[in-house]
Amino acid sequence: MIHMIQGIVVRESGVELEQFDESFLGEGDVVVDVAYSDLNYKDALAVTGRPGVVRTTPLIAGIDLVGTVAESDDPRWSVGDWIVLNGAGLSETRNGGYSTRARIDGKLAVALPDGLSPEAVASLGTAGYTAALSVMRIVMEGVNPGDGPVLVTGATGGVGSIATMLLAAAGFEVAASTGRLERFGDYLTSLGASQLVPRAELEGAGKPLQKAQYAAVVDSVGGEVLANAIARTLPNGTVTACGLAGSHKLPSSVMPFILRGVTLAGIDSVWAPLEDRADAWRLLAKGVDTTQLELMTSRIALDEVIAAGQQLLDGERHGRTLVTLS
Ligand code: NDP
Repeated sequence: MIHMIQGIVVRESGVELEQFDESFLGEGDVVVDVAYSDLNYKDALAVTGRPGVVRTTPLIAGIDLVGTVAESDDPRWSVGDWIVLNGAGLSETRNGGYSTRARIDGKLAVALPDGLSPEAVASLGTAGYTAALSVMRIVMEGVNPGDGPVLVTGATGGVGSIATMLLAAAGFEVAASTGRLERFGDYLTSLGASQLVPRAELEGAGKPLQKAQYAAVVDSVGGEVLANAIARTLPNGTVTACGLAGSHKLPSSVMPFILRGVTLAGIDSVWAPLEDRADAWRLLAKGVDTTQLELMTSRIALDEVIAAGQQLLDGERHGRTLVTLS
């Protein structure tokens, strides 16, 4: 019997929800019945046909998947296991998670951490996992809660919201920066932010060294916001950079690095090693308030993903979006 699969396919001619059989799925040692995916900034770019994410066509979009193993040639995985795979080329060079069935390379997949349901893991998705990698890096660089507040930029976004939650849970004072303070100030406070910083305060060309006030920064915005955040980081602080929601540019100078010993730490979730992935998911299981996560998550079906992607790019969504496939 031919097993028909539904998925969002990116082609040169456009992006559509299509039906296809298993031969479309490509190579991989593990077949997954996908139960959930989610919507990240990169997904929004891919499903609205923008360049920069999908590098070969036709390709199934979706940088995350959560599901059960249906077939496996990988000794780590057995039929019925729940797994999560984030990045690892999904929706870039390999078919991704916006598909009711996927054939993946099982090497970078992670078992669901104790304490998080499949829905919660997918709701967190790459954004949550990247927030966890960022927080882990800050802690690894030696920043402690007593050292001063941690600035989170793009705080109402996926990475920013979860970073705010994780940092607050770990005892850090969080200064949340947003361009949507009036609408979402209370939301950020409910996630654990104790200071709210209007995005405008971090915009515009600033001096390379400004009043030092943050022990660390989790940045997903880039551009002048990142440059000004670096310029306000306390001596020996760490700034993690994972995103470019504002700009890919970094109009900074070496001054904060050579005069204040600031560390700029890049975060790449796509090819992070398995050990870091497992640690990040454990941190999320420990630090995320799942009731709060549910409140900040909206649910959509596969046929709503393209429209939701456009809304995300238009600034009309906040928090996280869970995609239900089964
Ligand atoms: P979201 O769209 O959920 O959040 C981005 C947030 O950035 C927005 O909510 C907004 O926050 C802020 N923002 C949006 N546009 C602008 C702008 N023009 N100028 C300044 N701020 C802006 O995206 P994600 O959280 O999913 O991802 C954020 C970034 O991180 C993206 O660039 C994404 O590609 C990147 N990323 C990178 C990863 C990696 O492995 N390196 C992994 C995951 C994400 P507010 O309104 O509160 O200011």
